[in-house]
Amino acid sequence: MKILKFGGTSLGSIESLKQVRDILVDNPGKKIVVCSAMSGVTNQLVAVVEQMKIKEIKRIDRYLFDLESKHLDVIHTLISDKDQKEIVKKRVSHNIKEILELTRLEYSETIRSKIITQGEALLTLILSSYLNQEGVPNTLIFAKEFMLVDSIENPNIGKVTKALHNVLENSKESEVYITQGFICKDNNGEITDLERGGSDFSATIIGAAINAETVEIWTDIDGVHNNDPRCVNETNSIPYLSYSEASKLAYFGAKVLHPKTILPLINKDIPVILKNTFKPKAKGTVISNKVDKKGMKAISAKDNITIVKIESNADLVPHDFFKKIFDIFHRFQISIDIVITSEKSMSLTIDDTVKLSEITKEIRNYAEITTESLNTIICIVGDSIASDQKTYRIFNILKLIPIKMISLGKNDNNISVLIDTSNKVRALKLLQENLFLQKEGTFA
Ligand code: ADP
Ligand code: ASP
Ligand code: MG
Repeated sequence: MKILKFGGTSLGSIESLKQVRDILVDNPGKKIVVCSAMSGVTNQLVAVVEQMKIKEIKRIDRYLFDLESKHLDVIHTLISDKDQKEIVKKRVSHNIKEILELTRLEYSETIRSKIITQGEALLTLILSSYLNQEGVPNTLIFAKEFMLVDSIENPNIGKVTKALHNVLENSKESEVYITQGFICKDNNGEITDLERGGSDFSATIIGAAINAETVEIWTDIDGVHNNDPRCVNETNSIPYLSYSEASKLAYFGAKVLHPKTILPLINKDIPVILKNTFKPKAKGTVISNKVDKKGMKAISAKDNITIVKIESNADLVPHDFFKKIFDIFHRFQISIDIVITSEKSMSLTIDDTVKLSEITKEIRNYAEITTESLNTIICIVGDSIASDQKTYRIFNILKLIPIKMISLGKNDNNISVLIDTSNKVRALKLLQENLFLQKEGTFA
């Protein structure tokens, strides 16, 4: 069994939905097709939730009317059979009515997740019916019945496996099963979501649960590129990446993969293949547990990084000081990306600042603390980077861009540098020229 995941960028228009049909026709065999929402729809649902918080009923109703019209238009164009068209239209309108009812309830995180995951439900209703019409018989299965992940940090694959087998056994047998990405249930059995972009993660959780042959992620670009194509023009697709390299790139901002995509596959031998829906013949990127070659392979960038600078003001020996500080971050469950220490001080970076004021209050018992926001971590990823002959060129950017922190990853597979976000695009371009385009000397 294979998993094929289609992202919003592959589901944004009538043309792209036809493209998805062609890909499924060209790829026979048993599969689970994991879908995101139509492009832009989750953003619109997030906007609905924002209006719900401030009780802007009129605006909510207008946004939902627009969403309903968008989906009804697609049904109108794609589904030719009159009766089938009516059935799907009714189901879409019913779902929209359910969202509307949710917006009238008291706001909670569960209600938020229930609303923002509806784009996937709407799209799969339409896609399933359209594919049946186009000679791709399929069974629609509902992710909320089997995505019992308990925790997003560490999904309970065993529980998902059991529930998914149960759902498959009790559904009409088919070569193609269609389901929704993004939605899941927590350990209280409440609906939650896998965070923005989470359908990639849904696909690998499902892939791990059924020991899939491969997980294919179909998007609007021919694989993982060696730099962010939104910032740099001359980027290239990377044919092979190891799980570890891909995880690093995803964690440090390569939007093409959700940061946790690789997590469920670490101990499995299931390759992830990134493919371009609009150029299905292009090779894309194969991500597996093999290292293809050594050296630097790609650069990614993660924004919204805050530096926390801490200087001990108590008579603590260094190991007590560091222990106290790390304990505080541990207690608030905040992950740290880069840490630099000296005898009585440390600088560290975080991206989640929700609890920063509480953390600051505690740290002030032992130390002085200052924070700086609007930073970006640039991460250069590969294998055996330190021994790559070209690595010194990373430091060439120092001529033009101040580096605020730098660290070499434990396994010699990444170098992270921290810079002001205002310098990000320039740094990415300079690094691309110096590391991958053989244009050393650009800095002269
Ligand atoms: P989908 O809707 O299919 O999930 P996303 O928008 O989440 O698609 O991801 C695809 C986009 O990721 C690309 O269009 C590209 O602009 C962006 N991107 C950022 N970094 C990279 C990278 N290193 N390689 C490829 N694409 C990247
Ligand atoms: N539709 C969700 C989002 O926009 C999930 C996804 O696209 O993967 O975040
Ligand atoms: Mg995505």
